[in-house]
Amino acid sequence: MSPQEVLAMCRERDVKAIDFRFMDFPGLWQHFTIPAGKLDEAVFEDGLGFDGSSIRGWQAINESDMLLVPEPASAWIDPFTELPTLCMICNVQDPITREDYSRDPRNVARKAANYLKSTGVADTCYIGPEAEFFIFDDVRFDHTPSQGFYSIDSIEAEWNRGADEGPNLGHKLRHKEGYFPCPPADQLMDIRNEMMQLMIESGLDVECQHHEVATAGQAEIDLKFDEMVAMGDHMCKYKYIVKNVAHRHGRTVTFMPKPLFSDNGSGMHTHISFWKGGEPLFAGNGYAGLSDEALFAIGGILKHAPALLAFTNPTTNSYKRLVPGYEAPVNLAYSQRNRSASCRIPMYSPSPKAKRIEFRCPDPSSNPYLAFSALMMAALDGIQNKIHPGEPLDKDIYDLSPEELAEVPKTPGSLGESLDALAADHEFLLRGDVFTEDVIHTWIEYKQKNEVDAINLRPHPYEFCLYYDI
Ligand code: GLN
Ligand code: MG
Ligand code: MG
Ligand code: MG
Repeated sequence: MSPQEVLAMCRERDVKAIDFRFMDFPGLWQHFTIPAGKLDEAVFEDGLGFDGSSIRGWQAINESDMLLVPEPASAWIDPFTELPTLCMICNVQDPITREDYSRDPRNVARKAANYLKSTGVADTCYIGPEAEFFIFDDVRFDHTPSQGFYSIDSIEAEWNRGADEGPNLGHKLRHKEGYFPCPPADQLMDIRNEMMQLMIESGLDVECQHHEVATAGQAEIDLKFDEMVAMGDHMCKYKYIVKNVAHRHGRTVTFMPKPLFSDNGSGMHTHISFWKGGEPLFAGNGYAGLSDEALFAIGGILKHAPALLAFTNPTTNSYKRLVPGYEAPVNLAYSQRNRSASCRIPMYSPSPKAKRIEFRCPDPSSNPYLAFSALMMAALDGIQNKIHPGEPLDKDIYDLSPEELAEVPKTPGSLGESLDALAADHEFLLRGDVFTEDVIHTWIEYKQKNEVDAINLRPHPYEFCLYYDI
């Protein structure tokens, strides 16, 4: 869509408001609105000024004037506003130099996509994320003293519930069996369908939606793979639609990776493949039908995984998901079947076009632009430097001796560990000026101060259960 076409769309759809969207540094979508009459062709050239100093992780107060420059091709009609509103995704620029802002996450992804092309290794990186999330009735930060925030006891209580909620009709999901019985056990069919439908109407290509394993309202909606910058944009819209559909039904959604003790967490398994001249580069005659490039890409991902997780698993809560027993990966290894391995090679289709790597570590608390960029850069480093991925982990984990298991490297245990790994290993991200030293440094400092330290310094509710009467 050109600027003229956007203006025509505004007239045709009787649009009254124009909403400008962009992603802050940690990964929350931001917006501001102008009356439709204020949008003209000049806005697409000159951008609109805003104060960047109040955006998390961005400019110092003395250099806070910034520009938002809308991408006309991204225009769509917001399905939630009362007043007809057209939204556009924006790039962020310095108003004086007109340079793209280095801490704009979308700019990082654009630079990553361009850098890939410039290397000649591939011209396109396709990304397919499988985001999971919880739909809750309401949020109460209480906890059961003996078990933490959620327990088998509370599941039994749920089964017996009814007196103050109307009749107990008995069709309830069993613990960890949410994947995926039909309604009436699945109570979230209608709400997920509405999310799916609004995504389609907003221009997203949805592959499927389903209930996920956790019984307390876990959902997954999958998009068809797309080019990495486009997929960053799609994920912003995706979360916006999911949260707003829930909200208008008086429900609430969280993308935090592990909201419930002793139940599955929410991942965002991310499928990645490189293409050149319209041909897939990851299909070949090696292990699991992979090419050498694909195996080296796995080598790069596994080598850099501890640092990479600072972007793909960037919250303190992320590491409560990456534990054994909940289908989340804990082993930095690859396999065509073992789901405890962080890189899985899906074998659903024999088509070379479907050949891809599924990196299972990422979770939906990540900033999608930064997570996809970092993943792409790790895979690219593997290919450029021919990093061998080692042997696949095809044995059942339970058949491995403790000695064998101890030899398999593990995912980091905390955000602090991942940030330390990133501080020590980020040269692969700096190539092509994709992630600058400033972006890496600001990310580490922001996360350490506002999240790692903020959590570590606070007494935890469960510490009261353990220690209060000591
Ligand atoms: N929820 C699981 C995770 O945390 C994944 C479950 C699945 O999709 N098989 O990664
Ligand atoms: Mg899935
Ligand atoms: Mg899933
Ligand atoms: Mg998966």
